Amino acid sequence: MIDRAVEELKAAGISVSTAEEDKIAYCKDFNPLHLHRLLKKETPALPDVVVFPKSTEEVSAVLRIANTYGVPVYIFGGASGVIDAATPYEGGIALSTLALNRVEIDADNRMVKAGAGVVGGRLEKILNHHGFTLRHSPQSLYCSTVGGWVATAASGQFSTGYGNIENLLISLTAVLPDGEVVTEKMTPRRAGPDLKKLFVGSEGLLGVVTEVVMKIFELPEEFLTISVEYDTMGEAVRDAKALMSLKPALIRIFDDEESIRYFDLEKFTLIAVFEGKGAGSRADIAKKMVSGEIAEGYAEKWLGRRFDVSDISKIVPLGFIFDTIEVACFWGDAERLYHEVINAIRRVEGTVTASAHASHFYESGLCFYFTFAGYPEDVEKYYREVWERAIKASLKNGGNVTHHHGIGRLRKSWLSAEIGGYISILKDIKTMFDKRNILNRGVMFD
Ligand SMILES: Cc1cc2nc3c(=O)[nH]c(=O)nc-3n(C[C@H](O)[C@H](O)[C@H](O)COP(=O)(O)OP(=O)(O)OC[C@H]3O[C@@H](n4cnc5c(N)ncnc54)[C@H](O)[C@@H]3O)c2cc1C
Repeated sequence: MIDRAVEELKAAGISVSTAEEDKIAYCKDFNPLHLHRLLKKETPALPDVVVFPKSTEEVSAVLRIANTYGVPVYIFGGASGVIDAATPYEGGIALSTLALNRVEIDADNRMVKAGAGVVGGRLEKILNHHGFTLRHSPQSLYCSTVGGWVATAASGQFSTGYGNIENLLISLTAVLPDGEVVTEKMTPRRAGPDLKKLFVGSEGLLGVVTEVVMKIFELPEEFLTISVEYDTMGEAVRDAKALMSLKPALIRIFDDEESIRYFDLEKFTLIAVFEGKGAGSRADIAKKMVSGEIAEGYAEKWLGRRFDVSDISKIVPLGFIFDTIEVACFWGDAERLYHEVINAIRRVEGTVTASAHASHFYESGLCFYFTFAGYPEDVEKYYREVWERAIKASLKNGGNVTHHHGIGRLRKSWLSAEIGGYISILKDIKTMFDKRNILNRGVMFD
């Protein structure tokens, strides 16, 4: 079947590669277990073929052909996802969106249309050149794509002020598994069904997003920061909740372990950014409101290295396993959840470090982002045990399963804890969209 599908793809003029290096490049996402396997020269999985469609029409042709032959298709944006999502365990087609790379700015209406494969860093650079910013900046900005953001329901570092990807999204075009193209009339808002939202967090189960229209913002004239030191996480969280009334663009709280790493400081640290008109006076009020001790320079220090992930490539080849677990909770559960999850991770034999920061804030609560590293005898066993214990501790203490990385295969055993009875509706929707189950098989559920 795959041979006939490849012949038809070529006949349709699609760029197709069966080169070993392309298959290896599309054999996994950024889940740390994959990195360990690759270092042992084991490929997690290999597609039979990689395709690089250049337009929505070409994506439609790829899916029509795959659907005809029942060939599995795994969708790849930047492959920066960390949840073992699009790994092509059943071979078939790896569909790269990277050639869907057009960008059109509509300055009048403060929006940008971007191909799904546009990498965030390139988009932000183009926008900055025209005096705009996306203000969606995940730490993976330079290695993730616009389509990947929608598919994973991503969060950027400025989400507290500007919202997550679902709040920035105006419209999208997607191709369904049988090749049908769906889009909608663009409007700043509509009542009635808003079905594009089905694609937010869909992790490639329902279709391939090919084009996205997002809000953009003028680059802010004023940009003020504050840095504050605390003795406990609880004090910092209480101040963060109070600061929300001042509409900060960004708040982060680093626990004592991360404060040492970032600032050489044995305290809990809160940083906040205020931007736009009146930012100066809001920052002044913030300084008077907080109960902690005002400090200097921590915000600037973190902003200067907010995309630096070089530690990963230093410690993973040494045999350490390293990962992050992000969960959301309401304010009332925050302090207890933080301590319980940290303790749960530390209790797993082999753990070298467990720390956290809080990075996305809402009127009703926040997201904690836990980081762990271990040096265990059995990497895979250790890794699974940390995840089991951490998610159990989160759920027991009012937290959830994922704030922004998604479900993939890594978290599928907790999907029902996350969405309860909706899981059967989700399965029905998947079956309706994808009768032959060709897209991202094994992601979220089998
Ligand atoms: C160092 C590092 C830092 C990170 N920081 C953040 C962060 O700050 N915030 C955050 O939210 N995430 C972060 N992530 C996770 C990751 O970058 C996000 O999940 C990102 O949105 C994935 O985008 P991608 O283009 O790399 O998608 P991929 O990894 O290629 O794909 C992710 C999932 O989306 C599907 N998919 C991709 N493109 C499409 C499409 N066009 N249509 C349909 N389905 C599609 C894939 O099949 C897969 O299931 C980080 C990851 C790393 C490695």
